[in-house]
Parts: sequence; structure tokens; C-alpha cells
Amino acid sequence: MINPIKASGPHQGVKLPDIKPWSGDHPYACHRHFYPADRGLQVSFPERPRLITQVAVVGAGLSGLTAAYQLRDQEVVILEADARPGGVCKSGEFRGCPYPEGAAYFLYPVDRHWQNFYQELGLDLEAALIPEPVSCLYYRGQWYPECFHASGIRQLPISPQGKDDFLQLTQQLAAWEQETDDFAPVNLEWQSLDQVSLKHYLEVVQGYSTELAPLLDPYCRSCLGAGADQVSAWAALYFLMSECSRETRSCAFPEGDARLAAALLAGAGPNRLRTHQVVVGMEEHPDAVRLLVWDQLQEQPYVVQAEQVILAVAKFAVRRLLTGVAGWTAATFQSFQYSTYVVAALCGVKGLKIPGFENWIVGQTAFSDVVMQPRRSALGDPRVLIVYAPQPFPAPRQALLRDSVQIKAAEILTGLEKIWPGISRGVEEIRLYRYGHAQVVPYPGFLSRIRGRIPWRQGRIILAHSDLEGLPCVEMAMLSGCRAARLARQALRG
Ligand SMILES: Cc1cc2nc3c(=O)[nH]c(=O)nc-3n(C[C@H](O)[C@H](O)[C@H](O)COP(=O)(O)OP(=O)(O)OC[C@H]3O[C@@H](n4cnc5c(N)ncnc54)[C@H](O)[C@@H]3O)c2cc1C
Repeated sequence: MINPIKASGPHQGVKLPDIKPWSGDHPYACHRHFYPADRGLQVSFPERPRLITQVAVVGAGLSGLTAAYQLRDQEVVILEADARPGGVCKSGEFRGCPYPEGAAYFLYPVDRHWQNFYQELGLDLEAALIPEPVSCLYYRGQWYPECFHASGIRQLPISPQGKDDFLQLTQQLAAWEQETDDFAPVNLEWQSLDQVSLKHYLEVVQGYSTELAPLLDPYCRSCLGAGADQVSAWAALYFLMSECSRETRSCAFPEGDARLAAALLAGAGPNRLRTHQVVVGMEEHPDAVRLLVWDQLQEQPYVVQAEQVILAVAKFAVRRLLTGVAGWTAATFQSFQYSTYVVAALCGVKGLKIPGFENWIVGQTAFSDVVMQPRRSALGDPRVLIVYAPQPFPAPRQALLRDSVQIKAAEILTGLEKIWPGISRGVEEIRLYRYGHAQVVPYPGFLSRIRGRIPWRQGRIILAHSDLEGLPCVEMAMLSGCRAARLARQALRG
């Protein structure tokens, strides 16, 4: 069905398919509590708790769900503000074709412990292995498969010096990856590499060609929330290690990392999850923590009392919740900065050949990469092209709230038309997701500011969330969830 709306301004002339209203974050519920001066909603603690539990997990993203899963033998309640669990790992469906609305892939764990963990969750890692080519680069009108490996790099239309430098970089990263013990790279010395940007590291520290940073820019924007000149060299090199390694393999389920969230929730016990519940306040007492919860369905507050609380939410929310509680202060979390993100699901795309799983686009500001679900299909089967459009960093969040779906869709379609002329004609429907605080951005110096400096627990309150590791990925979310569960268990035993 073709929507009669046509874009105005620079995107004029692009005929738009049926465009659904914004989805993704639903910020209003949190905003009206955390900015009561603006929005006029202030609630106070009712006298008696409605619910008493051993552990309350706040946030049903991967970190919170992992914590709840690890504590499944305890009394656990999961409070989630959104209508659905998963955080940024949710999935959509178009005519029976599942697709990720956010996170798409994860790494095949090399470590036996993590392999067992996935197996215990019933996740078939072998079936999820992504067939090659995994990563392809679109550069100056051509696709380059296996762009992080020698075979792809040799084909790139860059100078001989640029190719040599790129090869040297990827070989070095692959070697570091081999020496990496679990999550701790031995030779990737983080303190100094964290002080400079990836671009600075490549061009000034290593003296590599200036052709490299633009090639790695879409990867940085998509995976780390900001450009090669804005992210910490350590963070970027740490992420790129697995892309360049021949041993590390990537995995994806049709619905993306939402499969991980679903498996964790199934293991934790789905009846422990309470959706539409926004935690808006906390009080620490000698024998328990009292959480003030706003029930969005009933439009009323109530109290959950817990012996231990795991705050598996990003620090922009933690900052507001912890004011005056435990030993943290708002200033502790001031260094956390977040990117904004738009994801577009183009449903019903027809006749499109997609070269790899992750397809990185160089030189396109409207988006950074695309994933097709399913990658191969019979003619006429429903397919969804997922377009990742990280927004410029830093950018005012208001812009994201202000932009209309028509404008965003037109911007994305205009960019796609340059790669696949005529693509807009085959798209039936566009679904747009926006994330106001999508991922923590490891800007230069950030990791040095947080590592070892923020206590993971104080009193009865424990912090989780991938942002605490300074690196936005599903592995870090699960790692922080495991650690939080361990701390909660110790305290419950003690
Ligand atoms: C578009 C996108 C694509 C990505 N792609 C990948 C990928 O392919 N591979 C990869 O490894 N990583 C990817 N990432 C990063 C990765 O998905 C995240 O780092 C990870 O999933 C975060 O999990 P989390 O539990 O730490 O946080 P979140 O997912 O942010 O979960 C936090 C939860 O807390 C809830 N919450 C917040 N405030 C409150 C409150 N006051 N009360 C109750 N609940 C609250 C939120 O609604 C949310 O459900 C991607 C991220 C984005 C945004």
C-alpha cells in the first residue's frame, strides 16, 4: 500500500510506502516522573508494601534477565517499564518473518563456561552461526565481502599503502584476539589507548594512512555510538578484534538477540516479570529497600520491598533513582554519555540481493549498516531489510522526539536509493524504532573514568547494565547480570 505522503525538502520526490508511527523507546512514562517539574506528576511512597520479595530486579534488558535467570532458585520479581521485555533486544514480525528491532548478532563464545551457559538456555549455537561472508563494505559504489580480512582488504580501491596499513592493523588485532583470555585482552593495554580516539591511534600513533578511519567509521557509529574520531581507540580495537579474528565467529537468530532475552526469561520464570512498571523512587532501610513503582496500567503507585535490589537500568536513569540513596551520588554517573539511534525495518522488500550478513556503508550519513532477514529466500517470500541509523553524536535528544516518521523514512530511503536504485518501489511498509539513550558511548577517557571507580554494590543495592562495562554489547550486558546475581547471592547467604 503506497502512502500518498511525499517528503518535502531535500528528500522531495521519493515516494513513501506505508509508514507506521514511531516505536522503540516509550520515554514519556519515565520522563514524567524523572522531570516532574516539567510534567507535573509527583507521587509519594504509600505506607505499606504491596509486595515483599528477596530480590527485585529493575529492568528486563539482557543484564536484568541474566541476573534473574541466575537467581531463579530465589524469590525474584522483575520490574520493567516497557510493555515488553528485552530492552534493546526486542523483535518484530512481518507476515511470519521475524526480525530484530535492535541488537542483531552476538559472538560464538570460545570459552567453555559461556558455551555451557548458552546450551543450558537451550540456544543452538551451531544453528545460529552466520554463513560467510559475514561483513561486507560498500565503498564508492561497490561491495567488498570479508572487509575485515585479507581477501577483502586486497580488493579495496585504496592506495597500496592504505592496503598494507589495513592488513597490518587487522593482523595485529587477530593476534591480540588469540591472546585474549575471556573478556580480558592481555596485550591491548587499555589505560593509554583509552585516552585517544581510534582515528588518532591510527593516524598519529601508528602513522597509518588517512584512508583507514573513514572505512571503519560506519562500524564505530553502529557498534559504539559515535565516529572513529570520537570513540576510544581501546574500545574500538577491542570490538574490532573479534571482527578480524579467523577463530571468532558471529551468530544470529532470525529475530536477532531477542532470542537471548526470550531464553533468559523462559529460564528465569516468565511469571516473575511485571511489565508496564516504572520504578520511580527508592528508599534504603536497615532491613530492606523500598521501591516506589508506578503501575502504568492502573495509573497508581505502590511499594515493592526487597532484601536486595539489582538496578539493571542505564545510568541516566540510575542517576535519578539513587539521589540520596546508598553511597553513590548523581556526580558518580555524570561521565556516562549515550548515543541516539533509529532503526528502520523495511518490510516486504523485493528483488534485493544482499552480499553479507552485516553490510557496512561508507560515506552515508543517514545510516551505517543494513541486515536482511532472511538473507536468502524464495521469490515472493516476505523479507525485512533492517537499516541501522545511529544519529550524530552528541546530538540533542529533542531532535529525535521532534522528527516525523515521514522525514526519517524519506532520509533513509533516499540513502538506500543511491545503493539500490528503485528499492523504494518494492517496499510495502516501513516501521521505525527510535532509542533515546541507545548505547553508552566509550568516548576517549571514559573507561579510565569508570573502571574500578564505581562500586558495583553499596548496601542492599547492586548495579548491573552493559554501560557499567563501558562497552555496549550483549556479552557485556550478560556479564554484568551474572556479576550482579553473584553479589546478590552472597548477600542473601550472609
Ligand atoms: C540499535 C541497537 C543495535 C545493537 N546491536 C547489537 C548487536 O548486534 N550485538 C551486540 O552485541 N550488541 C548490540 N547492541 C548493544 C546491546 O544490545 C546492548 O548493549 C544490550 O542489549 C543492553 O542490555 P542491558 O540490559 O544492559 O540494557 P537495556 O537493553 O537498556 O535494558 C534496560 C531495561 O531497563 C528498563 N528500564 C529503564 N528504566 C526503568 C525504570 N525506571 N523502571 C523499570 N524499568 C526500567 C528499560 O525499559 C529496559 O528494558 C545494540 C544496541 C542498539 C541500541
